[in-house]
Amino acid sequence: MKIAVIGTGYVGLVTGTCFANSGNDVTCIDIDEKKIERLKGGVIPIYEPGLKELVLRNAEDGRLHFTTDTAAAVKTAEMIYLAVGTPQGDDGAADLSAMWAVTKAIAPHLREDAIVVTKSTVPVGTNARIFAILKELTGRECHVASNPEFLKEGAAIDDFMKPDRVVVGVRDPEVGEKLRQLYAPFLRTEKPFLVMSPESAEMTKYVANALLATKISFINEMANLCEKMGGDINDVRRGIGHDSRIGFAFLFPGVGYGGSCFPKDVRALTAMTEDKGNLPEMLRAVDSVNERQKTVLFNKVKSHFGDDLAGKRITVWGLAFKPETDDIREAPALVLIKQLQDAGATIVAHDPEAMENVAKETTGIEFCESMTEAVKGADALCICTDWKAFSQPDFAEMYQLMASPVVFDGRNLYDPARMKARGFCYHSIGRVAVD
Ligand code: NAD
Repeated sequence: MKIAVIGTGYVGLVTGTCFANSGNDVTCIDIDEKKIERLKGGVIPIYEPGLKELVLRNAEDGRLHFTTDTAAAVKTAEMIYLAVGTPQGDDGAADLSAMWAVTKAIAPHLREDAIVVTKSTVPVGTNARIFAILKELTGRECHVASNPEFLKEGAAIDDFMKPDRVVVGVRDPEVGEKLRQLYAPFLRTEKPFLVMSPESAEMTKYVANALLATKISFINEMANLCEKMGGDINDVRRGIGHDSRIGFAFLFPGVGYGGSCFPKDVRALTAMTEDKGNLPEMLRAVDSVNERQKTVLFNKVKSHFGDDLAGKRITVWGLAFKPETDDIREAPALVLIKQLQDAGATIVAHDPEAMENVAKETTGIEFCESMTEAVKGADALCICTDWKAFSQPDFAEMYQLMASPVVFDGRNLYDPARMKARGFCYHSIGRVAVD
């Protein structure tokens, strides 16, 4: 199948590459000329495990192409995937300006039988609006389908290749069949291919993200209480997780969720709820609990050192919003760093992949390629992302290198009793501090 993917970001590049890898002829399009030039030269603009090898192999085999020429790519495509960004607008709702711009740009070039598919997360009603715009511009009823993406950054290739389910929203059963054929290579283990209306598919994506965000805010609120009650949230988590109605997934306390999806999607769903005259009480609480959770580590640092952090050297491990990515959009670490800097602290930071992105957006941070080097002379270490490399540091060396052995662990990576035995003052989330 000849496919055009418009928007070559985290989702578009993974989608295009995985479709090429299953034998399709894919052209990835972006307005960012530098990005396309780099991709043509074999340079991958984002960090995503396994992506580089797959892009290079499929490009070399002639199945994956990159261009800024939307018209040329769309003219021959049977399917046009729209994967542009849908960021949060000033009013909290999704900003669909890129989606509308692309819809207008492709209209004059669409084949009669082309299927336009929204891969981006778009508010309910967007597919219907795209259909209406295309009808106005082309004078015919074009096929428009919704195919929301559920991949997780950091495991995107695996998630795309082995999805838990594929959801498509179509008006015409034949379009559903075409999409089923496209996905057949990824569903060989009998994972479900779910066909519904575009409205239900659009809604499904938001409900999934909002429920996942709710789980995180819920466990964070419980963790904060647990800490005050003298309990250990990790034990509580085990205690509830074995209940088959509850389970273990997504119930890890931390410093709040970030990234390019949960925050904006919860707010977009809030805006949709308000727009229809309903009260988004749960959604608002999920968001505000999360905003507060991003300040939890800073409050612990202040309780330990006092309000004035002038002269304190504080190391931050983990800048990306989650491990195995270089994505720093809405990353809790950035909120913490700003608070620490405002209180006068000097920041030394380390992240395996995200330092370059943070350097572009911040000032005054000393970056360190080595996590061990980064703690040299530090008055405290704050951990914001649970990269695997952070789980087994050389504690004896760390103890020697730090000016004072104080750790604020926002991801509960270590055992409090062991940290105490190693001589550290150790604060974590939802567990009593030890010193
Ligand atoms: P991104 O910002 O990484 O990529 C978007 C790309 O679209 C950019 O490269 C940008 O230059 C390009 N673009 C913007 N306007 C364009 C235009 N007019 N023509 C061509 N290209 C244009 O975004 P992303 O993280 O890939 O997310 C894309 C969509 O997928 C969003 O709706 C997001 O909510 C959704 N989504 C993201 C994830 C994720 O984990 N990142 C997961 C599921 C769904």
